[in-house]
Amino acid sequence: MILPDRLRLPEARKGFVPVSSLLGMVLITGFFIEGARIAAAAGPLEAGAFVGNFLASNLISPALALEIHVTTWWVHGLLALGFVACIPYSPLVHLILAPVNVGFADPAPNVKMGVVDFSAFENEDAEELPALGADKLADFTRKRFLDFSSCLWCGRCQEACPAYNTDKPLSPKGVMITLADRLVAGKLEESLIDSISMDAIFNCTTCAACMEACPVSINQPKTIMRFRQNLVMEQSRIPELMGKAVSSLEQRAHPFFGTGSGAAEWRKDLDVPIFEPGQTEYLLWIGCSVTYEQRAQKIGRAMVRILQKSGTSFGILEEFRCTGDPAKQMGNEFLFAEIAQQNIEDFSDLGIKKIITLCPHCFNSFSRHYPKLGGEYEVIPHSSFIRILMEEKKLNLARKNQRITYHDPCYLGRRNGIYDDPRAVISGAGNLVEMPRHRNESFCCGGGGGNYWAEEVGSRINHQRAAEALETDADIIAGACPFCLLMLTDGLKKYTEETKAFDIAEIVDASLV
Ligand code: SF4
Ligand code: SF4
Repeated sequence: MILPDRLRLPEARKGFVPVSSLLGMVLITGFFIEGARIAAAAGPLEAGAFVGNFLASNLISPALALEIHVTTWWVHGLLALGFVACIPYSPLVHLILAPVNVGFADPAPNVKMGVVDFSAFENEDAEELPALGADKLADFTRKRFLDFSSCLWCGRCQEACPAYNTDKPLSPKGVMITLADRLVAGKLEESLIDSISMDAIFNCTTCAACMEACPVSINQPKTIMRFRQNLVMEQSRIPELMGKAVSSLEQRAHPFFGTGSGAAEWRKDLDVPIFEPGQTEYLLWIGCSVTYEQRAQKIGRAMVRILQKSGTSFGILEEFRCTGDPAKQMGNEFLFAEIAQQNIEDFSDLGIKKIITLCPHCFNSFSRHYPKLGGEYEVIPHSSFIRILMEEKKLNLARKNQRITYHDPCYLGRRNGIYDDPRAVISGAGNLVEMPRHRNESFCCGGGGGNYWAEEVGSRINHQRAAEALETDADIIAGACPFCLLMLTDGLKKYTEETKAFDIAEIVDASLV
């Protein structure tokens, strides 16, 4: 029989009907115990016992009440014990697994994506090489199996997901259900990627809104990224524009294919110091978007003026370098590791120990992934550094009567828990007004997970976020990430010709006295 979609249960939920029926029978026999007790007492009806009173008055003969009470008491007790015994073999197993999954979850705020260990590939005697990413269930760890089995099917993740909310084929809940189904069916060796779809896998912006919303701490983006790594590194399958960005990174050391900007253009007419080993304290890390995207170049210039005004000892690298993060986001861990290891060697030669970043993706890479490859630094995002400078009275701002709303970048907020520093800086320059979705509930700009270089299907994520920002009636829409700035600037063009989106460094630079 063909069932309508709403009645069709996935494999992982097939036991739901019998176990729910058992629970219903426990409930019904409970009411009969109450009714029989009231009828046997032959006293007044009991306040609040609506069902028991009804049964005692209409269905249970006082002459048989005692026998019915004893019989239903035993039936009820056995059914209740049977229900408890069935839990591990039914979809209600999440009652047991969910608390275990929460117990083993990464401590927040810390959405780890991990670094692939390539050492086995260098060992010529290794009998078995580890899988690059995942294509089948057998490629996942037991912790991920726990994730798939703990899913409550509640849908909170897809309600928060920017891809799902803009008509893209990705649903984090759908991914979890598909994987749970395969696990229940024991299909550990069957290829999974095409049943999830390559489009869905690349639509993920890795924003972690799903993780934040999930009541049982499932790490959906980590699973999705494992599929993406497999597509890219094992199968050489990648959407066309992302493929061009990765090729550009391989050939020209940056992902901005087709850019007309040179590596030093952002600092023309500016006297920017070069990092001097043993003399300079902070490396100001510029990053690819600030170097090569004209709109973002202004962030670099503003930050240089802020650092010079505050008397900070800082310098930049003479040649452009990338952290490798765009490669990692697009699933190419090989390229990420290669770039990161080269940077770590060069930083060691230059004696670099402290880094100020302009981009939360660079911050995330340096602070979360480089230590696993041997590069340990004191890394600080520019919004936090500016806050310190303000508190140390090294910067003075003229506070203006302007409304400023702040867009939390996913890689600064949800992924690294930095919410207060940018807000403190903004409050020094104007009046902060919040968007409905802010802090840990912020909505992605659409550019994460390499999707800055994607041809978007469905409606545009940045249009949705720009509209939400405009609803606050703010004079300025502030960001603390060059990719967010570029996405929001583009998104705002749909609604206004005014330039309203600015980076936090530009706002501070314009308010300096
Ligand atoms: S990380 Fe973001 S885009 Fe990816 S599935 Fe989760 S909510 Fe959706
Ligand atoms: S929020 Fe968590 S439990 Fe709910 S459907 Fe999504 S993954 Fe499953």
